[in-house]
Amino acid sequence: MSMHPPRHIDRHVHLEGGLDPTWIRARAQEQDKKLPDSLEGLWKGADRSFEDFIESFLFIASLIRSRDAIRDAVRSITTRTLASGGHGFDLWCSPHWLVVQEKQLPLEEFWKGLEEGLQEARTEGLATAVVIDAVNHFGIDHGHEVIDLIHQDLPDYVVGFSTGGLERVPFREWAPVFDRARKLGLRISAHAGENGHPNNVREAIMEGGVSRIVHGVLSDDETLQLLQVKSIPVDICISSNRILVPSLVQHPLPHMLRSGVRCALGTDDPGIIPCSLSTEETHARRLGLTEEELEKLWVHGEADAWCLLGRAH
Ligand SMILES: [Zn+2]
Repeated sequence: MSMHPPRHIDRHVHLEGGLDPTWIRARAQEQDKKLPDSLEGLWKGADRSFEDFIESFLFIASLIRSRDAIRDAVRSITTRTLASGGHGFDLWCSPHWLVVQEKQLPLEEFWKGLEEGLQEARTEGLATAVVIDAVNHFGIDHGHEVIDLIHQDLPDYVVGFSTGGLERVPFREWAPVFDRARKLGLRISAHAGENGHPNNVREAIMEGGVSRIVHGVLSDDETLQLLQVKSIPVDICISSNRILVPSLVQHPLPHMLRSGVRCALGTDDPGIIPCSLSTEETHARRLGLTEEELEKLWVHGEADAWCLLGRAH
């Protein structure tokens, strides 16, 4: 048991969702693009759908056309993390969309922009790591393409591989893609139990072999038990869940934590759904967590952070 107070790690934040509204407005104006109503609505905290969120996310992604834009995105996340007294972040990135799908910049420029941004963050004393995100609903051919894209000269700061998006393709089908990522030394995670059936969490673990779950908020008690028994870390993003998981009447974080699940806090897309590590802690407290339970979130957050653990091998 370590005796120092736990470092506060943002356990789940997306590169594209980390850019500030001021940056987004300026680039949209430069590129002569109109901001979608969905994004303006999300900034104001209006209730929106997952589809609205995806529209906003892709609109922001369309503005990222250079190495500097990548660096700026990391810089926004660094600034926000420091403002909350945070000590690091696990950063989800989707290079396939920018480099292959939309051809907005070459892969080398993507890596260089990331390296510059991460170097700045490290200079500020932050721990950093990158998780490459594939889109579940694009299917496993897309998953293989993501691995094809990144597998050569994979930078050291990439430590994980994940799926995100809509939970449509069963995780047993993703297993061969996850196996390839694992052979690269990467840790495996999945967005599951967010917009799909609760069983997705179980299948991701049992058949996909993932060692970390993003969200998992739709898990039933049996699944929570599996998460507890297997000590699977779960990233909880309360502000994001409130908008993107409208079926949640009451956020399950207290129940998950009291079921022995290794929950930790993340911000997900703070440039789209405004939040920070500080607001997430406030939300967690308002859900009725004790100070001891809040401390536990930070302890888990540090102990299971990939930015501190590095690659699997
Ligand atoms: Zn996410």
